[in-house]
Amino acid sequence: MKILLATKNKHKKLEIKALFKGTNIEILSLDDIGFTEDIVEDGNTFRENAAIKAKAIYQIYKIPTLADDSGICIDALAGEPGIHSARFGGYDTPSKVKNQMIIDLLKGQDNRNAHYTCAIYFIDNEVCFSTEKSCYGQIIKHEKGIGGFGYDPIFYIENFRKTMAQISLAEKNKISHRGQALAEFKSFIENKYFNTF
Ligand code: IMP
Repeated sequence: MKILLATKNKHKKLEIKALFKGTNIEILSLDDIGFTEDIVEDGNTFRENAAIKAKAIYQIYKIPTLADDSGICIDALAGEPGIHSARFGGYDTPSKVKNQMIIDLLKGQDNRNAHYTCAIYFIDNEVCFSTEKSCYGQIIKHEKGIGGFGYDPIFYIENFRKTMAQISLAEKNKISHRGQALAEFKSFIENKYFNTF
């Protein structure tokens, strides 16, 4: 079964492809099908934005489509950047600069709690599936690690005693917001379409 992934984010694509490796699901990306337009994400929640992206792409291609909308929510910033995580500090601003902006905003702040949230939305004909998962951690004062992407070098996970950028992709996929949401999606899709598990 082919599933079209409604994202241009190459890091998300990599993580999601790794999660479906060895299954009978082939993940196609927007690059694979030559879609270059921007989809306006004007929802108020992760779930709304995931649904907007999945529906927009499904309407054009009529291929089973999966979208992820995600971001980092920081308690001391009243949950921001949240759904604005990609545009926080400017879409094209390097992650290093954005991470420093977050570190600066939290200067002198004792409450370092934050979470990543990922909502996914899948649509195929009459079928749709949506879920949302979070992964909890703390914002540290300096970047650590070179793995992952985006805010990972400043997102510290107590259980690992490492940042999200210091763990492997396989480890990240086991515990991350996206990994958890996709694990639920995987069992849904396996039962719904393949019934062999
Ligand atoms: P979206 O593509 O509109 O869903 O925006 C997602 C944004 O949230 C990314 O560009 C990152 O800034 C942030 N983000 C989401 N998931 C992660 C992650 O796993 N690691 C680091 N940053 C993430």
